[in-house]
Amino acid sequence: MLGLVWILSLNTQAIGGAPERGKSFAHVAEASWGKGLSTLLRIVRMTLRHPWQVAITIVSTFIAATLQLFIPRLLGRAIDQAQGVMVAGADAAAEHALWNTALILLVVSVLRGLFTMAQNYFGEAVGHRTGYELRLAFYEKIQRLSFSFHDKVHTGDLITLGLLDLDGVRMFFSTGILRVVLLGVLIGVGAYLLISTDLVLGLLSLSFVPFVAWRSSVTQLKLRSTWLTLQQRLSVLSRVMDENLGGIRVVRAFAAQRHELEKFDRAKQDALDLATERVDIRVSNTSAMNFSFLAAMGLVLWFGGQKVIAGQISVGTLAQFLTFMTILQMPVRQLGLMVNSFARASTCGTRLFELLDAELDIEDAPDAKDLVVNDGVLRFDNVGFRYAGAGRPTLSGISFEARSGETIGIVGPPGSGKSTIAHLIPRFYDVTSGAITIDGQDISKVTLQSLRKAVGVVQQDAFLFTTSIENNIAYGNPWARETRIGQAAEYAQLHNYIIGLPAGYTTVVGERGASLSGGQRQRLTIARSLMLRPSVLVFDDSTAAIDAGTEQRIRAAMKRFAKDRVTLIISHRLSSLMHADQILFVEGGRIVERGTHEELLALGGRYRALYDLQLRPDDDRPAAMGAA
Ligand code: ATP
Repeated sequence: MLGLVWILSLNTQAIGGAPERGKSFAHVAEASWGKGLSTLLRIVRMTLRHPWQVAITIVSTFIAATLQLFIPRLLGRAIDQAQGVMVAGADAAAEHALWNTALILLVVSVLRGLFTMAQNYFGEAVGHRTGYELRLAFYEKIQRLSFSFHDKVHTGDLITLGLLDLDGVRMFFSTGILRVVLLGVLIGVGAYLLISTDLVLGLLSLSFVPFVAWRSSVTQLKLRSTWLTLQQRLSVLSRVMDENLGGIRVVRAFAAQRHELEKFDRAKQDALDLATERVDIRVSNTSAMNFSFLAAMGLVLWFGGQKVIAGQISVGTLAQFLTFMTILQMPVRQLGLMVNSFARASTCGTRLFELLDAELDIEDAPDAKDLVVNDGVLRFDNVGFRYAGAGRPTLSGISFEARSGETIGIVGPPGSGKSTIAHLIPRFYDVTSGAITIDGQDISKVTLQSLRKAVGVVQQDAFLFTTSIENNIAYGNPWARETRIGQAAEYAQLHNYIIGLPAGYTTVVGERGASLSGGQRQRLTIARSLMLRPSVLVFDDSTAAIDAGTEQRIRAAMKRFAKDRVTLIISHRLSSLMHADQILFVEGGRIVERGTHEELLALGGRYRALYDLQLRPDDDRPAAMGAA
């Protein structure tokens, strides 16, 4: 127990200087040993979900280690017996005894090999099963976390959590728990056997153990803390490279190659310095451990040789001590790895469990029912919203109503809150005040699954998956018939382009849809949202990359489709939304003007100014056009 406290306190010191990775995981760096201990206990409990495999592994480890302890004894005995056989006039019984010992040695070695095999096989199996369960829980949690969580935590941190941290937890059984059993048996029972054979020689044989154990533990913890820093520096390096590749056109256009090279060189040098420091730590540690082991062996040879000459012990007994030291050397050196495994599992586990235990701020209410859509009336009732951590509300007093078949246009300056209005409808975020209802049902009281099926949002960022066009369109409805996929593509004015491709609908779009133009990507995401046949369809600036002519054709084609649903169009381009039944002009998170296109023009306010700026013929333009 005391040892564990020591490891965990060392761990806390070692990670004290660790880089802060993602705001919400930052305080883990100061995790107390108490928290580390409860994390380790939780990992042990997870491991015990596979009781049979755990039991077989521990028993196999125990037996393999015990059998290993017989080997020095048997070797010592064999040497003594061989000496007896070599003496002139030795009888057949002496030779027989030697053969017996050799046979037992062989059987013990084979059995030890078999039990070690079982230990490795089942140990790995437990680790992999635990890893599988954790990966599943992790991925499932990621799917359910709200947008506000993703706003705070960097995607790279989540990937590290799901790969490296998860591995640290998964490996704890084989690299931590099993090593405790192995070292416990080897050092504990072995020390007893040696000391009971010869106190002085036994103590001399074990004299290297405390030094090597201490040295290896401290070194591993040092390596661990530098590894965390190295990881951070390498991620800076890959970020520089990633940015350079992503912005290759900007770099070339601004002839900034030299500046980019210097940036890369700085990041690379930082990583190299630390990598060299790690090599120094490792090499000096190995030399110190080798020296202490060889010094102990020299002492055993010296004192043991004296005893052999004095006839106090046999050559075989001396050989037994030396063989035991050789066997013990490697596990003792690995003590550091065991300490590292405890340290790693406690930090990685604390971070991982923090994510798995994170409360979901957007989830189904306990008595949530499926949304039932009849008339399809969408209503915003005095809605207010503030992003977590934001100083002032992003939206205030937003009220409007839209009936099935109606189109609402939302326009306003950048940052006025238009997309935020769109994100509240499928509950990407929850309103801070007021309510949103669909057919009188408060959206916070219906199941998320039914709500998100009823609300389609075509986002500004046209994200595509690396798969066929067909699969991308049918993403929300993988069992859809080909005719429906074709019809959605026709609405989005993409069908003719797709059938012109050599592989048609089965054409695979490249990484993030790179083989399509911006406008084609946007049209594909429009087709994808149409597949859901939602009751509320939101276009969030999703036609910005589409030319006005194509947009007109999309609108004409979708007329029939729009008849049965509420359509919300958010756009900076007035021509995209001036046909709407109601237009809302949003500024500073409030609706400052509302009405039809004609009414807003007649009002002569901000909308009018924007219209004059964008659409009115030059010769007719008023002086105060900058009002928008
Ligand atoms: P644009 O026309 O440029 O797309 P918008 O009118 O759609 O802008 P929103 O994206 O709704 O504006 O943003 C409204 C305000 O909320 C902005 O000040 C923005 O900085 C802030 N904001 C947007 N998303 C977040 C977020 N995830 N966390 C915190 N603040 C945010």
